[in-house]
This record gives sequence, structure tokens and C-alpha cells, in this order.
Amino acid sequence: MDRLAGVIASGRFPQSGMFSGPPGVGKQRLALWAAQALLCEQNSAGKPCGRCTGCSRVSTLTHPDLHWFVPIPRPKAQDTAKQVEEAEASLAEVMAERREKSQYGRPDGMDSHSVSSVRLLQRKISLTPAIARKKVVIVGDAERLVVQESSPEAANALLKVLEEPAADTVVMLTVADPQALLPTVRSRLVPIRVSPISDDAVRQYLSTVADPPATGAALDQRVLLAEGSIGRAIWADTDTEKADRAAEAFLSAVAKGPVGWTTAALAQAPWQARGDYTALLDAVSLKIRLRLKTDGTGDRARAVRWSQALKRVEVARFDAQGNLNPRLGLAVLGQDLQGLL
Ligand SMILES: [Zn+2]
Repeated sequence: MDRLAGVIASGRFPQSGMFSGPPGVGKQRLALWAAQALLCEQNSAGKPCGRCTGCSRVSTLTHPDLHWFVPIPRPKAQDTAKQVEEAEASLAEVMAERREKSQYGRPDGMDSHSVSSVRLLQRKISLTPAIARKKVVIVGDAERLVVQESSPEAANALLKVLEEPAADTVVMLTVADPQALLPTVRSRLVPIRVSPISDDAVRQYLSTVADPPATGAALDQRVLLAEGSIGRAIWADTDTEKADRAAEAFLSAVAKGPVGWTTAALAQAPWQARGDYTALLDAVSLKIRLRLKTDGTGDRARAVRWSQALKRVEVARFDAQGNLNPRLGLAVLGQDLQGLL
């Protein structure tokens, strides 16, 4: 944070930046902090003063020059203008929720930054700042930018924003894996790495601040699963056991060979409960990472196979954002994982 404050104070904060780091590590919070420093009317040494109108309006998420984009459900309207209106309304709703509770979970598995969100972003950027000298745009979970491949028009619009940023605009994207962004988008962003915190700090949080506090073996496991991320440590608790059980069942079905995974795929509800499907994939990914962490050392060939398996799960997770049938997705994944686990 001090380093970031130094950059802000020097006036060299990038116009297009990318905060990257593991999920839940606090990338969007850090981006908000930077936004507050940028919109602070005192701007003392690159840090928000915390008292001025600018600061308090950022912290209450009511600053008219702060535009925070988060993944939202894809607008249903047919008409382009109506879709943008719908996106704006959805975002306003999420912001209203975040004003109420400071702690928020992951976006729903199917939420995304659709073409409409990018159009809205363009519109916001074209406005003159309302009360500050500049506008700050945050695009959280930027890997959910579905526009990337499916809509060249929107991808170009986004590129244009990043390529020729208005002098009075700062755009910050947050992303867990920079590789998830199109190279053309990624190359226009100045990377800012957000590091995981220490296991000790996570342990401290889970055993004292968390409600209810974790103890014993459960605490050890959650520290391991958190991978230096408070967000992940919290989610690990609130995530449904259902997804965990489904992931366990799926992995043992895969181990049984084609008959096993085909049956498991067919048992998956075809179109309903897509959120369940993405939760299942997240749980599978978590289980493989846990295996890598606990048994991955020693046997190099096995570790390589598990890493490949993880990649396959990530591809399935990405495809799940589109319109792929979960049954088909699971069948393909089952086949992909053959021999890797
Ligand atoms: Zn201030």
C-alpha cells in the first residue's frame, strides 16, 4: 500500500492498470483504496485522507466519478439501448447491496461483464467528471469479460478505451489470472501484483476474527485451502457442502473409467441449476489443488498430470460461462481427466 501511495503521490499512477493475485486476496479492495486516494480532495502523500467529501463518498460507494463494474447477469432485453439500461440497473442493485454489507461473496457463477457492460463503461468514460478532477473505473473479476471472444465489436471498444484513455480517466482491472485476459487487452495494462498474505495471518483471522472461529483440524484445512486469501478462507466456510460432495462423487466416478463418468454426467441436471454446476467445478478445482499441495511433491510425473487436470477443469469452468450444457461439459471433462488423476 505504501508503494502504491508513493506512485499515486508522484502522479505516475498508470491510466490503465491491472491488479492481479489469487481470488479473495483483496484486489478490488486495494483498487478501491487507490480510487479513494485518486479522488481524495486532500490527496496527502498519495493516501486517502479519509475525511473529505471525496473520500467519504468513495467509502460509501456514492461517488459520482467512481464507476465500479462487477459481473452481473446477462441483460435479457433484445434492444441494445435497453440492455445497457438493464446492466446499469443491475450494477446499481449490487452497489446498493455492498453499501449495506462490507463483506461480499464471489459473483454468481453465471454472472459476467457482457457487451452491454462494456458499452455502459464507454458511456461513463465519455462523461466529464461530476465533482472530482478525474473519473475512476474499476472492472472487478475481469476474467469474466465474456466480450473477449464472442463479440469482437465490444472487445475492440474495450481496447479503444485502454489504448486511448481519456486524460481524466483511470481504469483498473482486477484479475486472478492475467492469462485469462486476451493478450491484446493484457498488453495495454500496467501490472500491479497483489500478494497473498501469510498462512499465519490467515490462521490468526480464522481463529479469532471469523465468526464462528475455526479450531483444530478444521482450522488447519481451511488455512491450507485459503492459500493466503482471507476471501477464500471465508468462502470455504460458506460454500455449500453440496458442491463438495458432488465434486467428491464426480472424481470417484472419473476414477472408475468411462462408465463411471458417463453416468455421473447424465446424472447432472441438464439446464437448471447452472450455478450448481459452476460450484461443482470450483469444488473439483479446489480438491485437485489440495492434492497437489499435500501429495504433489516427490512424484514429479504425478504432479505434472495433476497440473494438467487442473488446467482442464479451468477450461470447463470457462466454458461454463457460455451456453454449454452442463451434462455435455461434465462428460467432456470426465474424458479429459482420464488418466490424469
Ligand atoms: Zn480525502
